[in-house]
Amino acid sequence: MLPSQTSERIDALAGNLLAQHRQELQSRTDQLFGGLLVIQWLACIGISIWLTPLTWLGEEARVNSHVWSAVFLGGLIALPPLLMIWKEPGKFLTRHVIALAQMMSSALLIHLSGGRLEFHFHVFGSLAFLAFYRDWKVLVTASVVILADHFIRGVYWPISVFGTSLASPWRWLEHGAWVVFEDCFLIYACIRSQREMQEMALQRAELQVHNERVEETVTHRTAELAAANSSLQQHVTRRIQIEQELVAAKEAAEAASLAKSEFLANMSHEIRTPMNGVMGMTSLLLDSPLDEQQRNFAETIRQSADSLLSIINDILDFSKIEAGRVDLETIPISIQSCIEDSIDLLAQKAEEKELDLLYLIHEDTPPWILGDITRVRQILVNLISNALKFTEKGDVLIEVEAHPIPTPEGMNGSRPWHEFHFSVTDTGIGIPAERLDRLFKLFSQVDASTTRRYGGTGLGLAICSQLTELMGGRIWVESQPGVGSVFQFTIRAQEADAQEDEAAPVVDLAAFKERSLLIVDDNPTNRRIFSLQVQRWGMLPLEAGSGREALEILQRPDLNIDLAILDMQMPEMDGLELAEHIRQIPQRKALPLIMFSSAGLAPARGDARWQWFDSYLPKPIKQSQLSLALARALRISPASAARSYDAPLVNQQLADVIPLRILLAEDNLVNQRVARLILSRLGYDADVVSDGQEVISSVSLRAYDVILMDVQMPMMDGLEATRHLRATGNTAQIIALTAHASESDRQECLAAGMDDYASKPLRPNVLEQKLRLAAARLQNSTPVI
Ligand code: ADP
Repeated sequence: MLPSQTSERIDALAGNLLAQHRQELQSRTDQLFGGLLVIQWLACIGISIWLTPLTWLGEEARVNSHVWSAVFLGGLIALPPLLMIWKEPGKFLTRHVIALAQMMSSALLIHLSGGRLEFHFHVFGSLAFLAFYRDWKVLVTASVVILADHFIRGVYWPISVFGTSLASPWRWLEHGAWVVFEDCFLIYACIRSQREMQEMALQRAELQVHNERVEETVTHRTAELAAANSSLQQHVTRRIQIEQELVAAKEAAEAASLAKSEFLANMSHEIRTPMNGVMGMTSLLLDSPLDEQQRNFAETIRQSADSLLSIINDILDFSKIEAGRVDLETIPISIQSCIEDSIDLLAQKAEEKELDLLYLIHEDTPPWILGDITRVRQILVNLISNALKFTEKGDVLIEVEAHPIPTPEGMNGSRPWHEFHFSVTDTGIGIPAERLDRLFKLFSQVDASTTRRYGGTGLGLAICSQLTELMGGRIWVESQPGVGSVFQFTIRAQEADAQEDEAAPVVDLAAFKERSLLIVDDNPTNRRIFSLQVQRWGMLPLEAGSGREALEILQRPDLNIDLAILDMQMPEMDGLELAEHIRQIPQRKALPLIMFSSAGLAPARGDARWQWFDSYLPKPIKQSQLSLALARALRISPASAARSYDAPLVNQQLADVIPLRILLAEDNLVNQRVARLILSRLGYDADVVSDGQEVISSVSLRAYDVILMDVQMPMMDGLEATRHLRATGNTAQIIALTAHASESDRQECLAAGMDDYASKPLRPNVLEQKLRLAAARLQNSTPVI
């Protein structure tokens, strides 16, 4: 509404309110006077009876004429206004008739009282009452009436009005003046009261208009709110609908994904069964007399079948993880062994490409943690193998560090928790920035051309990503094309009590304290790692980047050097040449020297130059071997007599002494590779299958002496497969491989028909011992031919 419209509306409303208020007020006042007139009429009669009741005329008593005039005149005065009050309340004429009647009543009362002065006050009282109308015109009518009465009666019948016949003819004027005097106040009061009524009406009108507007606004807002509410309601309904659709779509997608995973799992299994046949037969073929070309063909079949199987295993693994069917193990694992095992698997590849494979475990990293060694190793092997694949020159460095974290919710907090940060740094081809985010997705490779050149399925990193997530961590990569890549991942794990590790050498590290060591290597990363490592053992390392630099240091007679460790492959002057020069420095003639080199490049054992060296360390260098070599060079005896560091870790010719046909049943690819590597070091070439059903089909093709049987496998586990084999009369020695090392697990394995038991992670010396025992048992029952 416009402001001008508003003020018009307020004025109109104020007018109405005022009129209404006046009407009510005047009607009420009319009623008041109605009562008053009746009371006055009765009072007139009463006064006339009381003051002059009877006129005595002889014996007859008559009613005084005053009484009659009180009755009749009073009635005449009171009745017309009463009639009008009844019929026309609040009307202009009614109040003026009332004013007239009220004044006439006063006049009658004065007359009946014989003009007594006190009764004149009734006039003033009546005027004051008439002011209740708040209409000054009524006062004028009343005043005119009373003045006219006083004038006429004052002139013609003064006794009736002034109580004396001798009153001055101007006495009415004196009375009139008092009446006018009172009128002045009353009229002023009426006008003021009228104004107040107008103001009040205006305020009420404003308030009402304001209220109306507020109400209008409220109604408007309420309507808007209702509209908004209804649109919100619609929105919410739509959201709920969308959510339901989404849930349905998600369920459908999950079902599809599960179906896909199941399909992949079934497919991989179906493909693997004939593939195992192919491999078994190839093994048999390779055992038979073949000419060179045939052997080559058979070898190629076996290699191709191997790589096909590893792809299928990857797919199977991925679908298993995706379908949530992977339960992580929690057993104590040694970080060092975990890394060394992974390095072991890939050492040959590194050597072939002449790449240095190094690792560094940062200080404050707990040596033992509770976790799933298989899965951690699987990630490491994947990343290291990629790094080696995509690097032509330089080195691949594996690092691990840890920092404490609060105990994750719902986990046991008896021992501290850590986040372990692993990184695999290479100096390879690198990855363009725009491709980095795709790497961890299924089947994604940086570009198709690299696939052809390097091979691969693009599954490895996707599996790594899932596994790190399962272990409470994440995986990411930083890379610069042409410079190299750093693949990193974290896992969360609890620290474990130190366990006895059969692989770790027992050397008294305290004996290394304060011994000085010269490290000669052209690779600065290698030098840094060596230095850090030996410093941790309390040694004092010196570094030289070349043979020349080393000789300069060694020629200083003031420098006390207890030992030097030389890299075999260095530009300008190699390790052997350097050793020769060192031996020519008089004070260094007896300096213990350690050579480290990749196995293929080390001088042959028969080489006379070996005399200069105390030990040889094969690359990649492991901490355990390094400490042994240092102890040997420094003539420190081992801390525990239980195992002599001189004793070879495993017997490389065991297979020649005890020939065995071995079947390895293990579902995890990396575990398979570790077991195969250990077996190959003992001289065995085992056949490998991935579950119990495959064991059964393999033994139907070929007789095995020993079956290394993983207990937990998909499709058919090791226990069930063993029961099946025993039920069909198979007598092969079955050795259980399991992560669960409790006595009850052992009993369960033996109860199923297994002969022995080896706990994971598999260690070469343990496996050797188990194979020797198995062979002995076989000879007792059925002698090996
Ligand atoms: P695969 O190596 O079997 O193809 P991955 O998932 O392990 O599958 O790797 C996916 C792709 O990521 C590789 O094909 C390669 O393009 C890229 N990639 C992985 N690691 C490296 C690396 N260290 N340097 C360069 N590229 C890499």
